[in-house]
Amino acid sequence: MEVELIDSMGNDASVVNAARVSFGKRIKEMSEGDTKLIKYLAQHNHWSPFAHASLQFRIKAPVFVARQLVKHQVGLVWNEVSRRYVDSEVEFYEPTEWRLAAENKKQGSSDETIKFSVAPTHAWCKQTYENLLNAGVAPEMARMVLPQSMMTEWYWSGTLYAFARVCNLRCKPDAQKETQMVADQIDVLAKELFPNSWEALRDV
Ligand SMILES: Cc1cc2nc3c(=O)[nH]c(=O)nc-3n(C[C@H](O)[C@H](O)[C@H](O)COP(=O)(O)OP(=O)(O)OC[C@H]3O[C@@H](n4cnc5c(N)ncnc54)[C@H](O)[C@@H]3O)c2cc1C
Repeated sequence: MEVELIDSMGNDASVVNAARVSFGKRIKEMSEGDTKLIKYLAQHNHWSPFAHASLQFRIKAPVFVARQLVKHQVGLVWNEVSRRYVDSEVEFYEPTEWRLAAENKKQGSSDETIKFSVAPTHAWCKQTYENLLNAGVAPEMARMVLPQSMMTEWYWSGTLYAFARVCNLRCKPDAQKETQMVADQIDVLAKELFPNSWEALRDV
């Protein structure tokens, strides 16, 4: 799984400036008062100053992870590779350790694992896909035999506030581990760029 930061706009000072424009003020460097203001804004749901800063990622993850993350909609934009048009080599997410079911269903899985190889299943899916393409079937139909473990790629852009909401929900232990792995990488990258804002938003 890969999370690559493609671009970003703004910094902690942009958040402060968006808030302080109400009083006609503008800062160049962060002060202690500005850090306090950021905390206040986050704690009191004044979200709009955090929406002037933005991030863009290119993410590679299995379909089942993408399917969960695409549910986050407000303040985010998503463009994904299309297997209607692309019929290049298929890649799979292939764990060798499989988590056992948890007693509490809501937890998703336990920490206990077993070893299991699904390589033959993946090889069979890939071969069937290629057989269909070789028979002249359109990629948009041939893809129907590809499993949820297939890797997909997307550009994900959005506001700082929206990505903080994603991380607040998906870095938590009740989120699926594989989805946490993507959210955790976003968490690290956003924290580097917006240390004060990110800390304030991730506390909420
Ligand atoms: C652990 C976990 C398990 C989940 N399980 C499931 C599941 O089993 N099935 C499933 O379908 N989804 C599931 N979800 C997805 C979940 O229901 C949300 O769709 C997802 O978390 C996106 O939430 P968001 O607040 O970022 O939504 P966004 O759509 O980005 O919305 C952001 C915020 O805007 C507001 N908002 C958005 N739309 C409306 C609206 N129509 N009316 C009023 N306010 C709105 C809400 O305050 C919302 O929090 C799960 C999520 C998590 C974290």
